[in-house]
Amino acid sequence: MLKGGKKRNIAIISGFILLFFIVIFFYFQTFQKKTPAYNSKLKVTTTIFPLYDIAEQIGGDKIELVTLLPKGASPHTFEPTPEIIRQISQTNLFLFAGAGLDSWATFLVEDNIDRKKNNYRALDLSEKVVLKPYLNDHEGEDEEGAEEHEHADFDPHYWLSPANALLIAQGITEALSEEDRENESYYRANLEIFQKELELAIKSWQEKMEQLERREIIVFHDAWNYFADFFDLNIVASFEPFPGKTPSPKYLQSVQNEIIAHDISVVFTEPQLAPDLALALAFDVLSQVAILDPLGGLSGRESYLSLIDYNVETIYSYLK
Ligand SMILES: [Zn+2]
Repeated sequence: MLKGGKKRNIAIISGFILLFFIVIFFYFQTFQKKTPAYNSKLKVTTTIFPLYDIAEQIGGDKIELVTLLPKGASPHTFEPTPEIIRQISQTNLFLFAGAGLDSWATFLVEDNIDRKKNNYRALDLSEKVVLKPYLNDHEGEDEEGAEEHEHADFDPHYWLSPANALLIAQGITEALSEEDRENESYYRANLEIFQKELELAIKSWQEKMEQLERREIIVFHDAWNYFADFFDLNIVASFEPFPGKTPSPKYLQSVQNEIIAHDISVVFTEPQLAPDLALALAFDVLSQVAILDPLGGLSGRESYLSLIDYNVETIYSYLK
C-alpha cells in the first residue's frame, strides 16, 4: 500500500514537472515569435517618391522605409545597381508603381516569385487603380520607338490623380496591416488622417483650377493624362511622346504647329528629363517656359500633397 502510494506520488510529481516544462516551452515559443515584431521594424522599400511619401504617411515610425530612386531621377531611364538589388532582397515589403513605369522592378519581382529567391512581399500599386490608355497613340512615330512601348499599353502615371492617391494609401495600409498585425490600428488611424488632409487639399485645388479661363496645356512627356482629367485640363501635345527618347524632327514640327494653332503661351518642362529640345522649340515660338514635376522629392515638393500643390499653383499662375 505504502509502496504503491509512493509510486503514485512520484508519478503525480513527475507529471507536474513535465507540465511545468511544457508550459515554459510554449511560453518561450510564443515569446520568441513575438520578439521580432516588438524589436525590429517592418522593412519597406519603394521605387518612386510619391509611393515613398504615402508609405511614410501611413507607416510613420513603425516602419523602416527606403526609397530606391535618387532625387530627381526619372523612373523611365533608371537602372538598378547590384547594391539596389541587394537592398530589395533584404526588405519585408516592396512597393512599386508597375504598369511599365518601373519595369526593372517588375522583372526583379517576377524573378523573385519564379525562383523563390528571396522572402519579400511585393505590391504592384497599379493593381489598386483603374489605368487609362496613353493619351498619345504615337501614330506616325518611328518604328524603333513603337517597339519600345509595345508592352506599355497603359499610362503608368496614375498617382498624379489625387483621387488615386487615396486608393494607393488604402492599398499600402492593407499590405502594412497584413505584414504587421501588431500595428494595424496605428496604420488605419494614419490612413484616416491622410484621407482627411487629402480631401481638404482636393477641395482647395479644385476651387483654384475652376477659376481658369484657359485649359489647354503643352507638357514635356506623356505623364499628365490623369492630372488633366482630374482637373479638367486639355493636353494639346507632349514634347517627348516616348519618355527618355529624343523625338523626331517631324514630331517636333507637329508640336510646333499645335502651339501656333492653339495660341499656347507657355510650355511645361520637367526636372527629371533633359528639356533642351523643348526649350529650343519654346524659344522659337514662345516666351514662357515653366516646370511641372510629376515625381517630387525635390525642394518644395517633399510630400505627395506639396507635389500636387506645386503643380496646381504652377498651372494656375500661368493660365489664370
Ligand atoms: Zn513618366
